[in-house]
Amino acid sequence: MAFDPMKWWLRSRANIDEVQDRDIERSCRSKDAYRSEGEARSHAAMNGMSGVLFTYHCSYCDQWHLTRRKPPSTA
Ligand SMILES: [Zn+2]
Repeated sequence: MAFDPMKWWLRSRANIDEVQDRDIERSCRSKDAYRSEGEARSHAAMNGMSGVLFTYHCSYCDQWHLTRRKPPSTA
């Protein structure tokens, strides 16, 4: 079969999207999402995790998540 660059390109695009989807699934669906930063913060405080967990806004699901890694933007 002849090499079809268009088909190849489409297939690599599909693979990239699939990897990104898995990434989003891992970062969003496996974590709790909060509608506001305050909600996320108070949830962390309720669990005695304030100062341990940091809030960050997620551009994928447009909600807030908690992370143990301090986001560089809040430095
Ligand atoms: Zn998310």
